[in-house]
Amino acid sequence: MVNYRYLGNSGLKVSEITYGNWVTHGSQVGDADAIATVHRALDLGITSFDTADVYANTAAETVLGKAIAGQRRESLEIFTKVYMPIGPKGPNDVGLSRKHIMEGINGSLKRLGTDYVELYQAHRYDYETPLEETMQAFADLVRQGKALYIGVSEWTAEQLREGHALAKDLGFQLISNQPQYSMLWRVIEGKVVPTSEELGISQIVWSPMAQGVLSGKYLPGRPVPAGSRATDEKFGASVIKRLLSDDVLAAVQKLKPVADEAGLTMPQLAIAWVLQNPNVAAALVGASRPEQLDETVKASGVTLDQGTMAAIDDAVGEVAVTDP
Ligand code: NDP
Repeated sequence: MVNYRYLGNSGLKVSEITYGNWVTHGSQVGDADAIATVHRALDLGITSFDTADVYANTAAETVLGKAIAGQRRESLEIFTKVYMPIGPKGPNDVGLSRKHIMEGINGSLKRLGTDYVELYQAHRYDYETPLEETMQAFADLVRQGKALYIGVSEWTAEQLREGHALAKDLGFQLISNQPQYSMLWRVIEGKVVPTSEELGISQIVWSPMAQGVLSGKYLPGRPVPAGSRATDEKFGASVIKRLLSDDVLAAVQKLKPVADEAGLTMPQLAIAWVLQNPNVAAALVGASRPEQLDETVKASGVTLDQGTMAAIDDAVGEVAVTDP
């Protein structure tokens, strides 16, 4: 089963393995398989689910809504996001204006079939809308009970500090940031994590398995495996492409003996690695099939010793990105 962690300085507990449905639901995977995977997640003790209005142009939220229909609402933590344009692109269909936030959450709640989400996240920082306007709109959503907590995604340390201060003045808390983080992408370690620790903000990290690359199934100089994200021409192939260079794939293969020695599979090693960081509240895993979750949830509660952590750095440290 899965362990739970507090999100930031709040009293909200989330499952440290959270299931996210980017690229998969409403796109790579049919609805029946998507719903079966959500149900397997629930059976395995995953209670937190991450989506966004923009995923598969709203279809991902709709599928998640169908999958959780009939479940006990109090036993779930639903996270969604606002910022990116969906559907017809009018001048106000992007960003973090009061208008886009208010319209955004109403659309998300309808598609998810719920009256509130536990976590509403700014999908990116908006350099055009005054931050005061954005934070006031979030404060109002919290007061209305449509969003119980507020988080952000891919904000810098300085942006987190500014947003956190404004939220505090407005009587709510900014409790999470959602950045990319994996053995191959370590950018947050420099500034975002130390600042977040100081402010009481947790990280909910995306692509902890580097979109499947850290599972070791992509081999240098070989065709990509059938049915994998890299073969999904609609969307997946383009987003995973940058991770598929031969030097990265060769380094990843060096993780196999490290995983064996630790008694883990490579997917489990990748997820356990991000969860060693105490500022990480949840690894946001993807899965195109229920069986993948059976494997990854076993990373919950695993402690990697110093020797294993050092062997991971020896294998992939040189190809890991620390400063993009
Ligand atoms: P992962 O790094 O966990 O990759 C998931 C993919 O890896 C699966 O879809 C599957 O792809 C493959 N995989 C999973 N388990 C296994 C296994 N056991 N063995 C082999 N392959 C496996 O995460 P994602 O890239 O999917 O991102 C996770 C979530 O993060 C998203 O759903 C979304 O919620 C969030 N996200 C947020 C972003 C943001 O800007 N805030 C941006 C991107 C993602 P396949 O079977 O097709 O190979």
